[in-house]
Amino acid sequence: MPLFHSTPPKKFILPHRVSRLGELAYNLWWTWNPDAQRLFLRIDPILWELINHNPVRFLQQVQRARLNAATNNRSYLEFYDRIMYAYDQYINKTDTWFSTNYPELINKPIAYFSMEFGLHETLPIYAGGLGVLSGDHLAEASDLGFPLVAVGFFYTQGYFNQHILEDGWQEARYITQPFSDLPVMPVLNEDGTPNTISVELPGRDVLVRLWEAHVGRVPLYLLDSNVEGNTPADRDLTARLYSGDLELRISQEILLGIGGVRALRCLGYNPAVWHMNEGHSAFITMERAREAVESGHDVRESLDEICAHNVFTTHTPVAAGNDEFPLWIVDKYLTGYREQLGISREDLNNFAMHTTSWGDQFSMSILALKTSQGRNAVSELHGIVARRMWQFLWPDRQEEDVPIIHITNGVHLRKWLARRLFHLYSDYFGPDWINHIDEMELWEQTLNIPDERLWEVRRHLKRKLVAYMRERARKQWIGGGVHPVQIVAAGALLDPYALTIGFARRFAPYKRANLILNDVDRLLKIVTNTHMPVQIIFAGKSHPDHEQGKMLIQDVYRVVKSSENGGRLVFLEDYDMNLARYLIQGVDVWLNTPRRPMEASGTSGMKAAVNGVLNFSVYDGWWREAYNGMNGWAIGGDYDIEDPKLQDEADTASLYDLLEKEIVPLYYRDVNAEGMPIEWMARMKESIRTLSPQFCNRRMLKEYMERLYLPAIQSKQAAVSEKSKS
Ligand SMILES: *Cc1c(COP(=O)(O)O)cnc(C)c1O
Repeated sequence: MPLFHSTPPKKFILPHRVSRLGELAYNLWWTWNPDAQRLFLRIDPILWELINHNPVRFLQQVQRARLNAATNNRSYLEFYDRIMYAYDQYINKTDTWFSTNYPELINKPIAYFSMEFGLHETLPIYAGGLGVLSGDHLAEASDLGFPLVAVGFFYTQGYFNQHILEDGWQEARYITQPFSDLPVMPVLNEDGTPNTISVELPGRDVLVRLWEAHVGRVPLYLLDSNVEGNTPADRDLTARLYSGDLELRISQEILLGIGGVRALRCLGYNPAVWHMNEGHSAFITMERAREAVESGHDVRESLDEICAHNVFTTHTPVAAGNDEFPLWIVDKYLTGYREQLGISREDLNNFAMHTTSWGDQFSMSILALKTSQGRNAVSELHGIVARRMWQFLWPDRQEEDVPIIHITNGVHLRKWLARRLFHLYSDYFGPDWINHIDEMELWEQTLNIPDERLWEVRRHLKRKLVAYMRERARKQWIGGGVHPVQIVAAGALLDPYALTIGFARRFAPYKRANLILNDVDRLLKIVTNTHMPVQIIFAGKSHPDHEQGKMLIQDVYRVVKSSENGGRLVFLEDYDMNLARYLIQGVDVWLNTPRRPMEASGTSGMKAAVNGVLNFSVYDGWWREAYNGMNGWAIGGDYDIEDPKLQDEADTASLYDLLEKEIVPLYYRDVNAEGMPIEWMARMKESIRTLSPQFCNRRMLKEYMERLYLPAIQSKQAAVSEKSKS
């Protein structure tokens, strides 16, 4: 079977010498190869910024004269040849980690389902950390040569674009993306018509067409109900991510689980592993059971075998993150389906029943837990929390024997590492270092990098961040319709040399973005100190239906807007992967203040760490495993405080103390003649050295293979408890 079903359209008229740019634009390999992005940028840097780093739009709009100039530039052509060579080497590589270690499994596909994929800012099919993790999962699966195929949605309007009004209220704007501008291809039948599948919803069949994105060597199929023949309402089913409307949500989840299986079948796949990234896709099992019934098997007898190939990753101990439906919705949407399976209403509900104080609910997480043989949480502490949370499903087991293991998250290093740091590390780690990023010994060489060179790159990255913020503020100012104070709030007064703290993530209440504002007077003293100024950059979206989250943004914005902070507190609109990259590469300190133990893992701090940014975070999620006393700072301690008010007080006190007594003095006091903070550099190297190999997702993917995928492929008992960890 060929790797992909679609080939890049030959729609660009390009000079022959650089004609393969059109092919490169359609493989998201460029998203984790900054030099490949520069292949476009170098032709016209202004246009590249203007079209939000989208090579497809770039090639549609770039002026012929600029392309011609590039083909006449010897240095550009050498660069082009080098990148295209690297690309070909990558795509055609046969001796990958996977094929070397598991040659007999190369034809056993692993299907990976997720509601969102964060691949790049141009493809608005993600909301936050879950999506970025899925996107990184695909990139690393491609690097390691996994036979992985992914399924998700093509949201034409994406999540939303965030605009902050003068009073701090978040406004959501939806922009429809024309597919022809995006690096995705339609999956077509031989006669050129769109390949569609159909899924039954109450009273009608909904048609779904498929798009294909190439993520290195990994195909990603995106479902899209915007098809002629569907009603206008059905055409919008897949327009947006995470609607608050429960009927729309169950419809999407039926499309993902049931439609996703049909899509893979239609493309000829017979996966050996079905990985559900969160419970949204848990209806996969129903469709696979229906297939078994259709081919004459008994549903009960088939179920064990079906579930043995399922893997489920749970990501959140927060109730809102675990989708639940009232039973009447399940009756309305799944009765026809259930009848095809020949199972009773009670049987179906038993797979997912969650008895709560507000009635019986159908829980997608419980469905996924009960129908998967491999189950994991995403950090050690989250594993403990998840086993406690779901223990009631295994009443005859002790909490520690609840069969949910943990595999701590990781990030795709190459994708998040600043280009300059990549080249700096290459100078000291050797040319092939990127193939050894999960090895501790490699990172020992961090100590060989001269402080001066590392400091120089760090300073460059901060200047770049500040310059970018100011440029955004300028555009906003020119664009009109904003109050001057919003321009200050957007970062017009940022100082490229002040100690800079970043806080950016979704504004979910448990993330406590306003914790640092608990004592505004004390905070103002810290940030406006003339000798040791500190600036804090906030960014993040709230779910558009979530009033509490929007009020949190407003709280932060109110303080940001006040003249007393001298423009040193800033809120950046419209957090996305592009802003994330600037921030996690450019700030000095990355702050995270979740309410322990609600942060299942967190990944933005890992992205920051490999770039030499120091983490300053609550003892929760990944940081609880990562902090060693020397590689950053931990807020609070390794214990739970039950009362949220007391917890807030304790964490606030710890946060200000560390900031005043340790972090700020360390940055400003112990500096050499060139202004470089000596002790700070030692911490920075400690952070890069200890965290990079442990929290890169190469380590993570290998763990998924060994502990979950392999048992599922072999249909053997998965590592069922934490005790049996190898
Ligand atoms: C990494 C990332 C996240 C996740 O951040 P956390 O701090 O782990 O919640 C969210 N949004 C974007 C755009 C990211 O790049």
